[in-house]
Amino acid sequence: MFKLKNFPAAEYILLAKSLINRAEYNNDDWVEKYSDAPDYSDLTHEERNKEAERLQGVYENKLEELVENLEDRDINIQQFEQFVHELTERYILLVFLVGSALTIPQIRREARNLIDEQIEIALESSRELGDRILAGQYRSWDGNPPQRSLSNLFAVWGGVLATAYQFGILFYKKAREMLRWDIGEAEHCATCLRLNKQIHPRWKWRIRLLHPKSRILDCGGWRCKCKFTPVPEDTPERGSY
Ligand SMILES: [Zn+2]
Repeated sequence: MFKLKNFPAAEYILLAKSLINRAEYNNDDWVEKYSDAPDYSDLTHEERNKEAERLQGVYENKLEELVENLEDRDINIQQFEQFVHELTERYILLVFLVGSALTIPQIRREARNLIDEQIEIALESSRELGDRILAGQYRSWDGNPPQRSLSNLFAVWGGVLATAYQFGILFYKKAREMLRWDIGEAEHCATCLRLNKQIHPRWKWRIRLLHPKSRILDCGGWRCKCKFTPVPEDTPERGSY
């Protein structure tokens, strides 16, 4: 039976620390699975934007390949779903790493849970996708336009990565850095218009989990082209969310 009074203080502290560490960094499965993930910590904001865009392009191409493989019956629906799952988890995680400039062991529990949530939401929209593809809903066989557009589908999926990237920026190591919200060329919802040109430190955006393309925006973030732009640290705050 474990008795506290027989337990040396130093060991007690070690035990407590190991429990805290386990709670904070619960990424053992990812550390092993994604040991090949690059280290993005030295990239500038511009370089990270470019890398996120590149990854989004690669992801969309790989999805397209999987759809073709399914249509050609090179893979079956179960394999298709499994590959989409693996691909989506990997790329959401990669763009998060690009946005945050963190490495996997540095991801804390709060972020891990939120990334897991985004992966879940992305995979939710892929349910029965294989069936719809095999039913021919995305191709025109008879000259009539298809019921759904494949390019639209890939754009929506690519958008999931864009969201994960902007979310990752909230977790960038420089918590005091000032971030300005800039709307892009798109129709804007009430939230984005209100937030446009507002400037706040990263940590304040983060405690509100407020970021471009977020699902908590009025528009749900799907067509949002807003982005964060870092501005010098001595820039005063502007706006009240
Ligand atoms: Zn927007």
